[in-house]
Amino acid sequence: MNLVLFGPPGAGKGTQSKILTEKRGLPQLSTGDMLRAAIEAGTPLGLACKALMAKGELVPDETVIRIIAERYDQPDCKNGAVFDGFPRTIAQAEALDAMLAERRRKIDLVLELKVDDAVLLSRVEARIKAGGVLRSDDTPETLAHRLGVYYRNTAPLIDFYRKQGKLKSVDGMADIQVVTRQIDDILDGVPA
Ligand code: AMP
Repeated sequence: MNLVLFGPPGAGKGTQSKILTEKRGLPQLSTGDMLRAAIEAGTPLGLACKALMAKGELVPDETVIRIIAERYDQPDCKNGAVFDGFPRTIAQAEALDAMLAERRRKIDLVLELKVDDAVLLSRVEARIKAGGVLRSDDTPETLAHRLGVYYRNTAPLIDFYRKQGKLKSVDGMADIQVVTRQIDDILDGVPA
């Protein structure tokens, strides 16, 4: 099964992807994690993306499409994957459909985590207050910018996937376990 977890920055896509990986054995393919690893490793890819990511801008479509295709061809994706933070533009979604079609696969379901902007902001503020490990783009100012980018470039995918009949929405403002249960209920209703 190939799933897309979709939603604004801070909606809980990473958290729910990790739970799906544990429960269903589908690897989490997070372009954000892959890019951060590239920055950490100091690769040319990381260097090229660092400034854009710090500002909350999208990195170029070709870059993420390439790293996703390379990752998807690893053996652990033979039964599918959870795409987390990808696709983020219509061009990426079209490239993903084409990439999967070449491999005789498809996206089965897109799970949209719906969270109000005010809740996203209060989550960032809570993380700062708690003083945990913070990402350089995890500040109220950068969140505001990332939300603008999300509404402009990424939110149009809601219609793209709705037209394909693949979109299911869940209330991402509920407690983590409640969101997980909503996702489980949807997935349990999908024919294997
Ligand atoms: P994330 O961890 O998914 O919030 O991603 C962190 C940052 O990585 C984003 O703000 C973008 O700068 C970059 N990024 C991650 N995934 C993508 C993508 N699919 N397309 C473009 N940029 C991305």
